[in-house]
Order: sequence, then structure tokens, then C-alpha cells
Amino acid sequence: MPRLISNKGFYGEFGGAYIPEMLYPNIEELSQNYRSILQSADFRNDFKKLLSDYVGRPTPLFYAARLSESAGAQIYLKREDLCHTGSHKLNNVIGQALLAVRMKKKNIIAETGAGQHGVATATVCALMGLPCTVFMGEKDVARQEPNVMRMKMLGAEVIPVTSGSRTLKDATNEAIRYWINNPADTYYLIGSTIGPHPYPDLVARLQSVISAEIKKQLKKAENRDYPDFIVACVGGGSNAAGAFYHFINDRRVKLIGVEASGEGVSSDKTAATISTGSTGIVHGCRTMLMQTPDGQIKEAHSISAGLDYPGIGPMHAFLSNTGRAEYLAVTDKEAMDASHHLSRLEGIIPALESAHAIAVLGKLQLKRDDVVVVNLSGRGDKDMASYMESMSDL
Ligand SMILES: *Cc1c(COP(=O)(O)O)cnc(C)c1O
Repeated sequence: MPRLISNKGFYGEFGGAYIPEMLYPNIEELSQNYRSILQSADFRNDFKKLLSDYVGRPTPLFYAARLSESAGAQIYLKREDLCHTGSHKLNNVIGQALLAVRMKKKNIIAETGAGQHGVATATVCALMGLPCTVFMGEKDVARQEPNVMRMKMLGAEVIPVTSGSRTLKDATNEAIRYWINNPADTYYLIGSTIGPHPYPDLVARLQSVISAEIKKQLKKAENRDYPDFIVACVGGGSNAAGAFYHFINDRRVKLIGVEASGEGVSSDKTAATISTGSTGIVHGCRTMLMQTPDGQIKEAHSISAGLDYPGIGPMHAFLSNTGRAEYLAVTDKEAMDASHHLSRLEGIIPALESAHAIAVLGKLQLKRDDVVVVNLSGRGDKDMASYMESMSDL
């Protein structure tokens, strides 16, 4: 298997750790330790047990008969929506919390935009009895009240961030500032395959349980342990990284990432980083991002909060650049239509993020006997307000 990532954390020209000098010891400590801890029997046992007994893994690989009929191919849904707290996010959070404990860290900090990663982190901190502080832009605190309430109920402290645009990127800056000031006993728990090395690799490894399960489940269902296509939506890129991971070196498998194009790739309101972005540095790594000609990070827009991010994980920038994976864009409206379509066809109301992956099925050249796995990253409960709005004119 050719190595995807260099020792310094580069996927080709992307990745690396572009961090303030003050953070160097923290990042170095994590880099030195994460692989050996993840590979230790003790970690693997605890991780496996929590994934099964707490998260509910393995998640089913469901043959979607009516969707298959409508899409003209054999469609399987990997049911990450059935994970505790409603998405794949908990896989990563549990893994990093176990890592933090082994690194003798006493406090967990995290940043959150829509609040999904914050809720997942607050959940696992409650489970493990770890103090949890979540940084969240003041604007997001106001927009995402139910998630703020969940975090508080789970015992986390939510710190509203009042600087800048008062959204995710400012929350990230604030979390980093806090970490610089409290380096010794704090673990910064990042929610996607983004940030400085080793986070993208760490998160991809923790989420790779998704593709490990797909292999086994397909073998049983189809008597072959690989699909023709894997489709996953991409915000920072963690559910896609997990779904792709064990197939990256298997050229028989076409890897399809789906970005949110918002109101369209040629509009101002988009989150389609690969389609509209260029190379630069964001949140500690070199990757593709949406930026103005003078290098200011643009604000992203998507109907789905989880895809509303102006960058993309460096692994995806690399897979796109080398042509190993293809990234397609889906608009707000296409995603909304796909949510209704899936709900009526299969009795599954997806998260708006995951609906982007469903919507792309209509854009692929599929043959009747192609086996397609769509990673259904999360469930739609959190999006009911958006769904209600979309139905007001039905
Ligand atoms: C957060 C989230 C995403 C996007 O994050 P990735 O790191 O790109 O996976 C996708 N789907 C759901 C349901 C989410 O909550």
C-alpha cells in the first residue's frame, strides 16, 4: 500500500502543521504518541467496546430497494445516522477522548459551528467524567439553541465567542488561544479531518471503522468486499475519509465526494471548496480553501450547517488533485429534494448533509448492476426546521 501521508503529515503538497510556535510542544507531543496509542491493544479494546456498546456499531449496511430502482443501480446505505447522537461524529470523539486520557490530559476543549461536534464532545466528556469547554461563535449560539441546551444539559461549559464574524472560524481561533494559554493539561478535540498534522490523519484513522465495516458487510451481501462506487458528503471531510479509507488503494472503487454548492458554484453563496477554491493555509494546514484574491478566507454558505466550511481536509485536496477521488457539487435545492425523495422511498429522513450524497446519484453514470455505497452520515431530526420551511408551500 503506497503511503498516503509523509512523516511530517503531508499528503503530496497538502497538510503539514502551520502553527504558532507556542503550540509546537503540544502538537509534537500528539504527533509522537497518537499512532502507538491507537495501535495499542489497550486502546483498541476500549475503543471497540465503546463503539459497539455505546455508539451502536457496527451500523447496518442497508440495501435500499426502492432507491435502487429509482437510481438504476444497486444502492446500499451505510447507516451512520443510527449512531448515538445521530451521526458519525461520535466515532472520532470517543477515539480522541480515549487518547486524551492516555496522554494524561485533564480537560477537553472543542470548537463547534452548528453545535453537532460540540454535542458529541459534551456527550463523551459526560461519559468519561472529563470537564468540557466548547467555544462557539455568538451568532451560532443564537442560531443553534437546541444544541447549546444539549451541551449544557450534558454538563459542558459553552463559551460564546464575540470576536470577528462570531461564527466557527472565530470559535476556532478562540479555542487555539485557550490552548496556548493552558498547554499542559488541555486536550484540543478537533471534529473533522482538518487542522494541523496529526489531526487529519488521526481523525481519518478513527473514522476508518466505517470502511472496515463496509468491506465485511459487502462481502456478506454481495460476495465481494468492495463496491463500484462510494459516495459521501464532504464538509471538513471526516465521514468521507472514513468511508474511503480502506478503499483508497483499490482502483476498482470509484470514490465520490460531494460538496455543498449552496446557491450554485458561480454564486457568492457556496461552500464548494474544491470547485471554487485555491491553495492556501487555513486552521493550521495547507489545503484548498475559498479565499479572496488577497488571501482573506471567504464565508461559506450551505443549507446544511455541517457542510458550511470554507476549507476542506488536506487528504481530500490531495485525492482531488491526483484524480483518485472525484468531487461533485450539489445545491441547497437539490439536497432538499433528495431529502424528501429518500424519506418517501425508504422511510429514512436524512440529515441535510447526507442528502447531498443522495442527490449526487442522479449525476453519476450508473449501470444497473453497479454496487454503490452511500454513506448516510446523519439523521434529519436536527434539520426539521429547514424541512418544515421547505414544506410550507407543498
Ligand atoms: C458534521 C457533519 C458532516 C460534515 O463533516 P465531515 O467531517 O465532512 O464528515 C456531515 N454529515 C453530518 C450528519 C454531520 O453532522
